[in-house]
Amino acid sequence: MFDFPVQHTAGAARAGAFVTPHGDVPTPAFMPVGTAGAVKTLVMEEVAALGARMVLANTYHLYLRPGHELVRELGGLHRFMRWDGPILTDSGGFQVFSLAAIRDVHDDGVDFRSHIDGSLHKFTPESVMEVQRALGADVIMAFDECLPGGCDRATGEAAGVRTLAWLERCRKRFASLEGEAGLPEQTLFPVLQGNVFDDLRASHARRTLELGDWTGYGIGGLSVGEAKEDMWRTLELLDSELPRERPRYLMGVGYPDDLLEAIARGCDLFDCVAPTRNARHGTAWTSAEGQVNLKAARFRRDAGPIDAGCDCFACARYDRAYLRHLVVAREWLAMRLLSIHNLRFLVRLTEEARRRIGDSSFEAWRRDWLARYRNEGSKQ
Ligand SMILES: [Zn+2]
Repeated sequence: MFDFPVQHTAGAARAGAFVTPHGDVPTPAFMPVGTAGAVKTLVMEEVAALGARMVLANTYHLYLRPGHELVRELGGLHRFMRWDGPILTDSGGFQVFSLAAIRDVHDDGVDFRSHIDGSLHKFTPESVMEVQRALGADVIMAFDECLPGGCDRATGEAAGVRTLAWLERCRKRFASLEGEAGLPEQTLFPVLQGNVFDDLRASHARRTLELGDWTGYGIGGLSVGEAKEDMWRTLELLDSELPRERPRYLMGVGYPDDLLEAIARGCDLFDCVAPTRNARHGTAWTSAEGQVNLKAARFRRDAGPIDAGCDCFACARYDRAYLRHLVVAREWLAMRLLSIHNLRFLVRLTEEARRRIGDSSFEAWRRDWLARYRNEGSKQ
């Protein structure tokens, strides 16, 4: 059921289709993040209208509230959040390490306290498979140990060893659950770790390939505070290690320029909370002026749209002066309209990248696009 035919390439960049039980996802693709089963301020019909084909939801949040068993009882995550397209759930690992008060990380798993009410919980590779099986997303992620950027090599190496041991346990539990009646068809992606140490990255990728015939790969441990050059070098290294006929999901990366750089280095799927989080702070992306904050006084009488080249509802209907007013007045509508714009901006960027990979103009277009975006963005 899961497949990834690649239709065109331009250097390492690929245009393909990720085939899932809930439909095909043309790639490269950006997946909007519906943390607790909702893309903040939008209904799923709006998310679909933006051109998004696949969304992400967070296991950690849904496990704590409303609980995975309740979601299963109510028909699974697709039905619960009214989204017919493909869904990916993360393993909860990243949130446990970043949001929760961790009590203990050990070889068996992680004991942590809920960031909501302080209650005590435990995630193991097995339990994380069970939770994600109950939620029912198309793609589920293996449990991994997430480290902050800038950790030393010995810490990175130890986390890599543990992540591989956990991957094997995830694989076994996932396989044993497959026979259970009533469970949806799902696939399990491993998460590649190794920080920014080339030898750790290469050996982790090779060991992961030895552990199974995976339908896709999550690339973790990037965009966590490391230098950009380290991220690009790591992606180039992984491009030579990973099979070309499988999709690669670069976890947590979603600023426009980063997206284009990663597409050029062979990544296919992306997610990030930046479009909606930035929207809540009045920040919007534009192709001609880089990232702008609409609170700026210079937009007070600006009768133009956020981005003249954008086809989203917010740009078609409203001017910057009105949007600035909404942002300054802290109106909820500002968050909605800027979320619509920022999400459409990223989806449109991936659509154009796909088109350009198809007609061989990707490299030249990417260079021009990045030069304009970065040059103008730096003047703000
Ligand atoms: Zn727009």
